[in-house]
Amino acid sequence: MSETTPTTPQTTLERVRALPKVSLHDHLDGGLRPATIVEIASANGHRLPTSDPEELRAWFRDAADSGTLVRYLETFDHTIAVMQDAESLARVATEAVLDLAADGVVYGELRYAPEQHLQGGLSLDEVVEAVEEGMRRGEQQAAAAGTPIRVGTLVTAMRHADRGLEIAELALRHRDAGVVGFDIAGAEIGFAPSDHLAAFDRLHAENFPVTIHAGEAFGLPSIADALHPCGAERIGHGVRIVEDVSVHEGHDEHGLPNATLGRLATWVRDRGIVLELCPSSNVQTGAATSVAEHPITLLKDLGFSISVNTDNRLMSGTSLSREFALLVEEAGWNLADVERATITALSGSFLPFPDRVALASAVIRPAFA
Ligand SMILES: [Zn+2]
Repeated sequence: MSETTPTTPQTTLERVRALPKVSLHDHLDGGLRPATIVEIASANGHRLPTSDPEELRAWFRDAADSGTLVRYLETFDHTIAVMQDAESLARVATEAVLDLAADGVVYGELRYAPEQHLQGGLSLDEVVEAVEEGMRRGEQQAAAAGTPIRVGTLVTAMRHADRGLEIAELALRHRDAGVVGFDIAGAEIGFAPSDHLAAFDRLHAENFPVTIHAGEAFGLPSIADALHPCGAERIGHGVRIVEDVSVHEGHDEHGLPNATLGRLATWVRDRGIVLELCPSSNVQTGAATSVAEHPITLLKDLGFSISVNTDNRLMSGTSLSREFALLVEEAGWNLADVERATITALSGSFLPFPDRVALASAVIRPAFA
């Protein structure tokens, strides 16, 4: 009798990790490696809750899980504190690209707010240049490691600050050097996207793409404001569009859940506005109760253009593969759903159209076939 090597069945996570994926919503300051934080902090004197990388990894996740916004936001004080010089910014960017590539991401958009990285004396332009240098290095190293990835950056303005137009101009100055879009983030309640209308007008005049965080902590008025006066091509989160959807018993003649959509939800669905949904992040911040119950599955079934994202990989202890694996294991998704969300993310990405077509036909479709 010949000996056979037992084959271990692949876990869902392993199967999803092996598939090509597209990430649209991933914060650079929310995805650092714990060991890197410890190393940079010990060099620049920043005090951390612990200097043990594994303890620090757990601390980030616990703090983000605690249900208090104050502790959640405190986590970013530590990541931002170690991203204040050009070398550290480039290193963090390179490692983020490598970590996405190792997770099977073939195209990713990483975002950050340059105005948060000026404490060490860098100018806004120097911050962007350092991050772009790190991104290109990451792409080269990932290609050499046999996990090719392409990345674009989204330059974010903080919605509670008053620098929207200045940050929009910054994004435009670097549009041919890796910056592919503009975003606003930060406290949503009380800070409408249209407070930054001058920035959006300027970006539209220059035909530059925009995504806006909306419909996470605040509901429909925030989404409407992001879409209409501000002209967002995509919505960061947008999960609360579900507040404009009433679900009834049973299914319609197309096999879709019976539901009545309000005017705004109808607009978002029918125009194919891509929602950058982040299941685990929403569970941590209380915007959803569990991945199983997350509105992403209903929105998918109702024909909304949904993409799956991580938001903050470190704070949520997650990866894009893990988000998909949770949806498969807890929310009844199959691999066809994973493929459809991946193609939706790609079509909503800020990559040039021919590049999107090439990536879909040469990389994504064949892997799912
Ligand atoms: Zn976000």
